[in-house]
Amino acid sequence: MVLRRPGAPLEWTTLPDRTPGAGEIRVRVTACGVCRTDLHVVDGDLPNPGRPVIPGHEIVGRVDALGEGVKHLKLGQRVGIPWLGYTCGSCSYCACGRENLCDRPLFTGYTRDGGFATSAIADARYAFALGEEGEEVAGNGQVRHQV
Ligand SMILES: [Zn+2]
Ligand SMILES: [Zn+2]
Repeated sequence: MVLRRPGAPLEWTTLPDRTPGAGEIRVRVTACGVCRTDLHVVDGDLPNPGRPVIPGHEIVGRVDALGEGVKHLKLGQRVGIPWLGYTCGSCSYCACGRENLCDRPLFTGYTRDGGFATSAIADARYAFALGEEGEEVAGNGQVRHQV
């Protein structure tokens, strides 16, 4: 589901699967939460979203392709992809371990494509192994947050 401009309805769109670049993975999405922040992105309450962008930053899925150099994740592994989707690794905040304040971050579903899709590309540094415990979607249709 693609947001072409803030305030527009999401568009059901068919796109080719992307190949993950170095340090990235492709995740086959099995569930993605809908968060108030997604609504802020779609409504234009947050400045300068990607254009176009696929919203959704509470992704659960399985790794289905590994980019060059990714060693800590395996094909088929269940992972979660959060809001903070990339940091530069070199600014003063990243250098002191406060990468949540990075000067040049990318945010999943806002400034990089997110999880309202069949698959998503993620920075492997911001893909977290979830293990196999629990289901990503509860019986009542609500997405369970897996922390
Ligand atoms: Zn959220
Ligand atoms: Zn940084």
